[in-house]
Amino acid sequence: MTGPWAWFAKFLLRSVLPIGGLALLAGFSHGPAWGWAIAALGWLLLVFMHRRQWAALAAWLDSVESTERCQFPQAGGVWGEVLGKLAQRQNDQARRLEEVETRLGSFTGAMDAVPDGLVILDAGHRIQWSNRAAGAHLGIRLPRDDGVIIEHLVRTPGFAEYLANADSSSPFVLQVPAARTRVYTIRVVPLGDANKLVVSLDVTDARRVESMRSTFVANVSHELRTPLTVVSGFLEYFNDEGAVDAEQRKQFARLMSDQTARMLTLVDDLLTLSRLEAEDAPASEEDVDMADLLAQLRAEGQSLSDGRHRLEVICQGPALHGNRKELHSAFGNLVSNAIRYTPAGGEIRIEWAASDGCGVFSVCDSGVGVAAEHLPRLTERFYRVDRGRSRGTGGTGLGLAIVKHILLRHQANLSIESEVGAGSTFRAAFPDWRLSPGK
Ligand code: ADP
Repeated sequence: MTGPWAWFAKFLLRSVLPIGGLALLAGFSHGPAWGWAIAALGWLLLVFMHRRQWAALAAWLDSVESTERCQFPQAGGVWGEVLGKLAQRQNDQARRLEEVETRLGSFTGAMDAVPDGLVILDAGHRIQWSNRAAGAHLGIRLPRDDGVIIEHLVRTPGFAEYLANADSSSPFVLQVPAARTRVYTIRVVPLGDANKLVVSLDVTDARRVESMRSTFVANVSHELRTPLTVVSGFLEYFNDEGAVDAEQRKQFARLMSDQTARMLTLVDDLLTLSRLEAEDAPASEEDVDMADLLAQLRAEGQSLSDGRHRLEVICQGPALHGNRKELHSAFGNLVSNAIRYTPAGGEIRIEWAASDGCGVFSVCDSGVGVAAEHLPRLTERFYRVDRGRSRGTGGTGLGLAIVKHILLRHQANLSIESEVGAGSTFRAAFPDWRLSPGK
C-alpha cells in the first residue's frame, strides 16, 4: 500500500487506535464517563500535537531558501517522515541548482573567452545577455545595459535597418564612433521563435592585411609595367627593318638591357624580401670578420661610386655573430643608398665600432638628406621620398625594407638621423651578446 492510504493507515495505527483502545479500556474498567473523558483528552492532545507540528513545518518552509541545503527537522511519527521527505527533496533541488549554477558559470566564462561579440536580443531588440567581446565591439556593458534596446546603444546609420531585415548571408560592416580605427562585421542569427543572436567579428587586421596585399600587388605591377612598356616599345622599332639604323639599334639594345636589369633587380629584391618574411631566423650564423666585410663593402662602394665620392672606412669593433650573407646584404643596401643619394664630390663614412656595450654599424653621408616627416616611413616597401631620383639611380624602393627585416632577425635596431641638404646617418645597433671579443 502506497500514497495517501499508507499515510492514513499509519495515522490510524499510531494515533487513533491507541487513543480509542485506551478510552475503551477506561470505559470498561471505570465506567463510560471515564471512557469518553480519556477519548476527548486523547483527541485534544492529538490535535494540539498536530497543530504544533503544522506550525513548525510552516516556519521551516518560510525559513528555508530554495537554493539552500538543510538539516532534517526533528519530529517523530508521521510528521517525522513527512518532514524528512520534504527535506530530502529540498536538498536534491539545492544540489541540482548548484550543478546548474556551476555549469552556467563555466559556460559564461567560455563565452567571455570567445573573441567574437555575442548578444542575445528579445523580440523587441532588448538586450538579454552579452559576452565581454560585445562590450569591446559594441559598447554593451552588463548589468548596466540589461534590457536596453540595442538600437539605442549602437547608433551607426543603417544598423537599425539591418537588424530589422537581417539577412545572415551578408554581414553589416560597422565602425563604432568611439573607435573609428576598428572595423567589425555584424551578423544576426534567429534564436528560437522571436529572439535574435547578434554576432560581431573584429575584421580590422584582416582588412589591413588585405589592403596591404592589394597595395603591394599594385606597386609591383606598376614597377614592372614601366620597364616592360619601354622594352616592348623598342621591340616594335626592331621589327620595323627600315625605321632604325645600326647605331640606333645598338643604343636601343643598351636601353632595353638597362630596363631588363632593372626588372631583374626588382624581382631579386622581391624574392629576398619574401624569403626574409617567410623564415623567422637566419638559416646559419657565424662570427663574421667585420674588417673583411667592411673591405668588401668599400670595394663595392667604390665600384658603384666610380670615383665620384670620397669613401672612408673605419673598423674598430670585434667580430659580429650573424648570417654573413644577410649582414652583407643589409650593410650593402645602406652603402649603396649613401652613394646613390649623395651628389658627386660628397663624402661617405662607413664605420663599425663597439659603443655602450653594443656593436654599431653606421653609414654617414653628406648627401641630399631626408625631411623629418618622411623618416618614420622610409622602411616601408616602395616608400620613396623622391621617386624620380630613386628610379634614376636604379632603386627598387625595397632596400630599406630588406635592411629592416635583416636587422630584426639579428635583434638589431635601426635609427636614422637626417637633415635636408646636409646628409644622413643610418645606424644599426646590435646587442652585446652578438659581439665576439678577441676575434
Ligand atoms: P630605393 O631603392 O628607392 O633607394 P630604399 O628602400 O633603399 O629604396 O630607400 C627608401 C627611400 O629612402 C629612398 O627612395 C630615398 O628617398 C630614401 N633614402 C634612403 N637612403 C637615403 C640616403 N642615404 N639619403 C637620402 N635618402 C635616402
